[in-house]
Amino acid sequence: RFISFEGVDGSGKTTQLRALAARLRASGTEVVETREPGGSEGAELIRRLLVEGDPARWSPETEILLFTAARRDHLERTIRPALARGATVLTDRFADSTRVYQGVGRADLQGADLRETVDALHDLAIGVEPDLTLILDIDPSVGLARGLARGGAEDRFERLGTDFQLRLRAGFLALAAEFPERCRVIDASGTAEEVAARVAAEVVG
Ligand code: ATP
Ligand code: C5P
Ligand code: MG
Repeated sequence: RFISFEGVDGSGKTTQLRALAARLRASGTEVVETREPGGSEGAELIRRLLVEGDPARWSPETEILLFTAARRDHLERTIRPALARGATVLTDRFADSTRVYQGVGRADLQGADLRETVDALHDLAIGVEPDLTLILDIDPSVGLARGLARGGAEDRFERLGTDFQLRLRAGFLALAAEFPERCRVIDASGTAEEVAARVAAEVVG
């Protein structure tokens, strides 16, 4: 089974992915934990090109190409082999992050809608979706405060501020409505344990 965690910065994706992995392993399931951008040797190299250095280095279109290239390598080298041997794959972000961050979030900054570009490249190079997508929904100011508490200043994108994060939140909720078969919106407020119980209810029932 292929499950993605999505949501704005600091919504708890990494924390909840680890908790679900532990829970599934305890019941005897083989679990592969992975992340984007990254999740394979080549994709982690591309991640460094994206998150380090001058934020203005890449045009919005080039950024979409790099995220898609990283995803293709991640799919070939990590996700497909794991699914083929019957493992459950939990990924911290997948294509929905690109639909929202590059398709909607950045687009508003540029005044152009890049979602069509994201979709065209996805169809060309990726062509698969998770079986289940858990969208962790949180007030972005809470998410940013959590991120600051963690000290995560390496991330160029988080510095774009709360307005940007509000557009991202709306973008994720719109995606949940667009893909209701595979997407579940999880209330990500409260303690990590409370959120983990909501996640488990969606995944294990
Ligand atoms: P990013 O998008 O920046 O990678 P994320 O969605 O992966 O963020 P986490 O790294 O899981 O979010 O959480 C951000 C910070 O908030 C971490 O320091 C984490 O320990 C803490 N945290 C996670 N869940 C909760 C929670 N429910 N309540 C309070 N703090 C939390
Ligand atoms: O989730 P993670 O913190 O690993 O993501 C790294 C950075 O890349 C974050 O700041 C996130 O906002 C950004 N990002 C992005 N577009 C994506 C995925 C992540 O701008 N498609
Ligand atoms: Mg994270």
